[in-house]
Amino acid sequence: MTELAAPPREAGTGVKRISHWIGGRTVAGESGRSGPVYNPATGEQTGAVDFASVEEVDRAVQAAKQAFPAWRALSLSRRTELFFRIRELMHDRQEEIAKILTSEHGKVLSDAKGEVARGLEVIEFCCGISELLKGGFSEQASTGIDVYSIRQPLGVAAGITPFNFPAMVPMWMWAPALACGNTFVLKPSEKDPSASVFTAELLKEAGVPDGVFNVVHGDKTAVDAVLEHPDLAAVSFVGSTPIAKYVYETGTRHGKRVQALGGAKNHMIVLPDADIDMAADAAVSAAYGSAGERCMAISQVVAVGDVADDLIEAIKQRIPKVKVGNGLQSDSEMGPLVTREHRDKVASYVENAPAEGAKIVVDGREGDAPRDGFFLAPSLIDDVKPGMKAYDDEIFGPVLGVARVSTYDEAVRLVNENPYGNGTAIFTRDGGVARQFQFEVQAGMVGINVPIPVPVAYYSFGGWKASLFGDTHIYGPEGISFYTRGKVVTSRWPDPATSKVDLGFPRTR
Ligand code: NAD
Repeated sequence: MTELAAPPREAGTGVKRISHWIGGRTVAGESGRSGPVYNPATGEQTGAVDFASVEEVDRAVQAAKQAFPAWRALSLSRRTELFFRIRELMHDRQEEIAKILTSEHGKVLSDAKGEVARGLEVIEFCCGISELLKGGFSEQASTGIDVYSIRQPLGVAAGITPFNFPAMVPMWMWAPALACGNTFVLKPSEKDPSASVFTAELLKEAGVPDGVFNVVHGDKTAVDAVLEHPDLAAVSFVGSTPIAKYVYETGTRHGKRVQALGGAKNHMIVLPDADIDMAADAAVSAAYGSAGERCMAISQVVAVGDVADDLIEAIKQRIPKVKVGNGLQSDSEMGPLVTREHRDKVASYVENAPAEGAKIVVDGREGDAPRDGFFLAPSLIDDVKPGMKAYDDEIFGPVLGVARVSTYDEAVRLVNENPYGNGTAIFTRDGGVARQFQFEVQAGMVGINVPIPVPVAYYSFGGWKASLFGDTHIYGPEGISFYTRGKVVTSRWPDPATSKVDLGFPRTR
């Protein structure tokens, strides 16, 4: 195991410089632009990340373009072998990756390890690439004619990723892209960029050739350069809905294949027959885990019939037990939010709730949380309805709203009329109702007594409505399809019996 070089420090400061990774090595940014990276648990700036110019993005794309012919020609067995090595390395270095995640994102270490573990599942899936790329074959489609299909890589693909899963979401993209024979340029979130550089170093250590995986950091300038680059064939995006829409429209206008996953407002319906303790445990972990900064977080409970009072009481009882603290401390269960601005924005939804007609049951601004850093303790708000900002916006923080409705039909209508359609869940003991819910609910991922139904790696992940622009979900079988294009070969060989050379074939059969 080689030790990875420590990143250079800005002269005279404790702030590390985070640079691009192009052609298999660190490349210092030359644009003169950079952004701050914080430790959200202390509020201190720990890093400065270089922001790429259009030319720097081009350099990364050219490195990937150059690496493509040899990479796509590598046999499936060699690519598989490499993926097994990548899997082992990432697995062995899981703890280090998790610490990097905690230090820049803030999520608690156990959660960060969980993130790496879920990303590893996608890499494990990609170890089966030989099977996944198998085509079809029709012998004797017409007399003497065989027809077969193959799937080939697209060329250079790019990924643009959000701050909330700095290791896993990039894995959703680069792993299937590389496994399918594409080369890759990653533009990670500028808020927590170090995990991507560490990934690049590990891929090199595993034996991935230089130029196959590149990282450029930056903001809108870098994203636009990606979307407009003529040598990029495909773009995968995960982030907020307005940017997802922009990325989809701009990328497709420039002739690219684009999958753009957006934001969410995930509802959890609790029916009167549900196990209240089970539902309350699920609501607390799904709403406040990772400080609510998950696209599959539950942000809205829909309490049906007379379940509301008991359920709210059960959630309220549990909230003080959620230990809020620095993610590196082993007893912390919820860390800080990613930036001070985001923390303040999330807190404003709680502050404004009473004026909107909702009722604060637990106020996170007064909760037990460290004063340094960007902490906000869990909040619970009752009577949150459409038309209120606390309902209509994706808050993306530890704020759980509860809506009270009288019937199952009303609850489903609420979910279906919401513009987002990422995940949803129902809590009930009634299998027939659960089946009806799965049949009629308009969301891409459905949980039945499971609050965060993130699909396992051999299914694909994706929402409906404003949660996805494009038609392909990410990773799993749809990921393989996204990063390849089909080719169908129709072939006829001369009848060996007509050969001028005597092959020992009878003239007639
Ligand atoms: P974001 O949309 O602000 O940023 C995502 C990426 O887009 C980043 O790389 C960022 O640099 C870039 N970006 C930001 N503003 C841009 C602009 N004006 N023009 C071009 N590029 C721009 O999202 P975020 O705050 O990093 O992440 C949180 C959001 O991501 C939430 O909305 C969450 O629901 C969503 N998300 C969705 C999924 C999913 O699978 N659907 C998964 C994770 C996160």
